Amino acid sequence: MGLVVQKFGGTSVANVEKIKNVAQKAIREKEAGNDVIVVLSAMAGETNRLIDLAQSAAENPDEREYDSLISTGEQVTISLLSIVLNAMGYRARSFLGFQVKILTDKAYKKARISMIDTDVIAHELKKGSIVVVAGFQGVDEENNITTLGRGGSDTSAVALAAALNAERCDIFTDVDGVYTTDPNICSRARRLDRVSYDEMLEMAMTGAKVLQPRSVEMAKKYDVPVYVKSTFSDEGGTLVTKEDAEMEREVLSGVTYDRDQAKITVVHIPDKPGIAATLFTPLSERNISVDMIIQNVSLQGYTDLTFTVSKKDMKEAQKIVEATAREIGAKKVEVDDDVAKVSVIGVGMISHPGVAAKMFKTLADEGINIQMISTSEIKISCVIQRKYTELAVMVLHDAFHLERKS
Ligand code: ADP
Ligand code: ASP
Ligand code: MG
Repeated sequence: MGLVVQKFGGTSVANVEKIKNVAQKAIREKEAGNDVIVVLSAMAGETNRLIDLAQSAAENPDEREYDSLISTGEQVTISLLSIVLNAMGYRARSFLGFQVKILTDKAYKKARISMIDTDVIAHELKKGSIVVVAGFQGVDEENNITTLGRGGSDTSAVALAAALNAERCDIFTDVDGVYTTDPNICSRARRLDRVSYDEMLEMAMTGAKVLQPRSVEMAKKYDVPVYVKSTFSDEGGTLVTKEDAEMEREVLSGVTYDRDQAKITVVHIPDKPGIAATLFTPLSERNISVDMIIQNVSLQGYTDLTFTVSKKDMKEAQKIVEATAREIGAKKVEVDDDVAKVSVIGVGMISHPGVAAKMFKTLADEGINIQMISTSEIKISCVIQRKYTELAVMVLHDAFHLERKS
């Protein structure tokens, strides 16, 4: 008998009818002889509603109370599922993060899991319960409720699978697997049967929200096989796993986009050693991640520096950077959130030169201006004007023939 972790996203638990469907899936796994842990998100739209509520209450809601509020959506779905399962004659127990306990650091809104106490769950599983755990939340060492960042239920599920040595972690969602690009914006997207942890991580980090990046990081670290499947059909599925000889070695595995981007430019900075450290240290101290960075060549002792942050961090980042800019004698700070990032991902890129050139030409042929570029061994990203996002994804998908297997 093995242990299986099943995670269901917001659209899979959007109402009681759908929660009954989830119950059937958990029961099927239980009847197959497995121990079952179910991790749930809040009902679709609920976390957004809670965030709007917090923001209507105060311009800068206290972070502790904010996390406490936005984590409540999951309490509703886990108890509803347990009610349904118990009524169907299956023993089920729901647990919030602090009841488990899923210990995290103190970084509200983007906490990282540091340890999971497996005793309570192991005890319940031994009694034959289906254990239902709230995704997206944990508790810090001082008993404050924390949340793991948007899409964080994926990470809760993989972390539980790792901590309890599960056979696999099934991520049930509204699409039947990981595709070459978002199937909701490109009808020619093709489902991948298998994808390596590294490629999936790049895809997730560059915007393919089907899995939260940290869940992939964790799956890779603890070698957890992750299956992305549809809640509404038994067909399809994608296995996220270690790269092996069998895996198709295509030049590219996918195209991604991220509209959650804002660009900040510090103009006319006196160019001397330590400028970048002076600018970025206060941002990292506030836990704001900087993504792409470009520093222009110095002209007559002055330089410009442009970088991107997540849109939700833009206002805070702007305030911090404006203060630093004054300190270092820069002329001004400009912000622009009318941008998006498109990326092409693939391990095959390492042995196929020319991917970058083809990407730039494809965008140029459509009259799409590239504002920033960044590359890694298996990824090339370009920042473009936001209105071109879907067009860029589609023309890149076509240019690299991702609709067909090579
Ligand atoms: P859940 O609520 O189940 O966690 P999400 O909305 O977080 O679901 O993630 C699923 C969505 O991810 C899909 O509906 C799809 O639009 C989007 N998506 C983006 N890129 C991809 C991709 N490459 N493959 C599959 N889905 C993708
Ligand atoms: N409910 C949370 C969110 O909307 C967590 C999740 O869905 O994974 O971000
Ligand atoms: Mg999600």
